[in-house]
Amino acid sequence: MAAFFDTSIEFLKGVGPQRSALLNKELNIFTFGDLLQHFPFRYEDRTKFYSIKELSDDWPFVQIKGAIRKKEVIGDGSKKRLVANLVDETGEVELVWFQGINWVNEKIKIGIPYIVFGKPARFGSKFSIAHPEIDVLTQKNEQEGSLQPVYPLSEKLRNKRIDSKTIAKLMQELLTVSKDKIRETLPQSILNTHKLIAKKEALVNIHFPKSFELLAKSQQRLKFEELFYIQLRLLKLKLVRQEKFKGQIFQDATLLTKFYNEHLPFALTDAQKKVIKEIYADLKSGKQMNRLLQGDVGSGKTIVGFICMLVIVGGGSQAALMAPTEILAQQHYNGLKRYADKMQLPIALLTGSTKKSARREIHDALRSGELKILIGTHALLEEEVQFKNLGLAVVDEQHRFGVAQRSKLWQKNANIYPHVLVMTATPIPRTLAMTLYGDLDVSVIDQLPAGRKPIKTIHRFDSHRLQVNQFIRDQIEAGRQVYIVYPLIEESEKLDLKHLMDGYESVCRAFPDYAISIVHGKMKPDAKDFEMARFAKNETKIMIATTVIEVGVDVPNASVMIIENAERFGLSQLHQLRGRVGRGAEQSYCILMTDYKLGADSRTRIETMVKTNNGFEISETDLKLRGPGDVMGTQQSGALDLMIADLAKDGPTLQLAREAAIQILQNDPELEKPENSVIRTQIDSMRKTVVNWSRIS
Ligand code: ADP
Ligand code: MG
Repeated sequence: MAAFFDTSIEFLKGVGPQRSALLNKELNIFTFGDLLQHFPFRYEDRTKFYSIKELSDDWPFVQIKGAIRKKEVIGDGSKKRLVANLVDETGEVELVWFQGINWVNEKIKIGIPYIVFGKPARFGSKFSIAHPEIDVLTQKNEQEGSLQPVYPLSEKLRNKRIDSKTIAKLMQELLTVSKDKIRETLPQSILNTHKLIAKKEALVNIHFPKSFELLAKSQQRLKFEELFYIQLRLLKLKLVRQEKFKGQIFQDATLLTKFYNEHLPFALTDAQKKVIKEIYADLKSGKQMNRLLQGDVGSGKTIVGFICMLVIVGGGSQAALMAPTEILAQQHYNGLKRYADKMQLPIALLTGSTKKSARREIHDALRSGELKILIGTHALLEEEVQFKNLGLAVVDEQHRFGVAQRSKLWQKNANIYPHVLVMTATPIPRTLAMTLYGDLDVSVIDQLPAGRKPIKTIHRFDSHRLQVNQFIRDQIEAGRQVYIVYPLIEESEKLDLKHLMDGYESVCRAFPDYAISIVHGKMKPDAKDFEMARFAKNETKIMIATTVIEVGVDVPNASVMIIENAERFGLSQLHQLRGRVGRGAEQSYCILMTDYKLGADSRTRIETMVKTNNGFEISETDLKLRGPGDVMGTQQSGALDLMIADLAKDGPTLQLAREAAIQILQNDPELEKPENSVIRTQIDSMRKTVVNWSRIS
């Protein structure tokens, strides 16, 4: 049965070797099954005819009936076109063709009634439709009116005269020969509970909807199915890992208690305590931990990571923390070294710029087990970095690392995987988190340390520069420090740097009496660190930077963040940048500077920033504005290549699908029960095509 849908597309009536090659290459369609899953991306409403009088250029497409009154070829060269005047009882519209002129000219006849379909455009008081679809009106097609599928195509296919209609015809043929072979892929219980229509009905109606209602039901059914199998796979992975991957047991809390009682510089928030408990439970469970720690910027994830490291070190093992940038690794190191020193624990920093000799020392101390805590960048992943026994790997700001890198960390121990804690400040919308990290356990710090005043965010136009400068001066006089961030705008790094330097000069001119730091991506790491350190020590009052400071940098006395050309930044970037202030006890400010002219999306971004400090709310808006593929950190993740579901819009369906998958696995973890045999069969057939399934045996 499955074999039928594996039949090469070449053998479908109407395809043949040439078209088959095109479909393979242009649309990745190789088999009957592939074609069936090539879903329309929209539908044309052919259920209604408009009169010419009713035309409006607001409509994407309209269908009209009429006869051609006259036609002529006019213009020369590239301007050459065929113009035909179509009339009905209410008015006249021009039909225009720039291509295929001779062919169309021969086909259309004066005086005969036609059905015309296309997008009307207004020219003065007249309407015209370029390259309309045109068919002779028959009794049959006049009554047939339906929702017609529009399929994704490529330029090349169009050039070879394969259009949506061609695909639709092939689809009709395919459905005719395969209808009785389409099997159900969801168990009856799920169909009942979620009121989903049968697979066969859904497939027929997704291509050729009999009504809007059936179309909606078909989409819902297919989206649910897609999301269900993704969630099932992730949850199954998690189960398998929990069963198969033993974890080292760590339960010695001596160091933790000592730190807690003697050196902890502040009281932990309830959210931090809750998360530490969750992690501690994992560490002593005997299973390998894979946990995502989500917490908005400034929520205090680092100390949580450190406290967990103490349990590991207390158990005689080693811990590592990997950060995405050199600056951030350095900052973590500086911060944690203070604590580690108090606890007399050896700690080291390893980055790309660590000198060879120091590097060798670190390698040796790691291998002997003498070095307990290693902080670093992805330099940690290099082959030579071998631990005596790595008990815990903490990964900060996961969105900068790929899944592949995460798994490299796993390999650091020969016989047993280390526990892994992934910390992210990118508030990922729930729907994305469930898909990207659905195989991880999730802890959330949903509370900021007490005493933090919410950051005030203000939008100012460039014309208010003098006022803004006065504000900066007032704040500095009150003892605060200020960030001024410039975007990377131009295509070329050179221009970006020039832009930044121009900004630097004008800031220097405006504030001749203050010491000013500058940090950007082209600087040598030592120079960067030097400037960062000066700023952190309050030796400089203003820090001019590009987005290199976006992640993690922590200077509590800096309470003003000015973002230049704020309209050029994405929402999550703006939120990350704003998170650099609001870390001390003082009232903090974020000022978004823009030009007067703002596009609609830019305006929404700025308004969202002014309106809320809540990272999750911001990421939801971001998801809506940009779609799932563009939300930070999800870029190369194949996990988001969905066929029909849309993570930005189908959150509720995703939630239901996930719950359904959990329920199935709870009742039948091995999917052995007869009522779940459809799932088993479907997984088997997906395993052949979807790479990720093969990880489950
Ligand atoms: P993030 O979650 O963004 O990584 P950090 O770990 O950098 O946040 O913490 C931000 C700041 O808050 C740091 O200066 C840290 O020392 C401080 N901090 C963390 N937890 C608390 C707390 N419970 N009370 C007060 N300050 C805290
Ligand atoms: Mg952090």
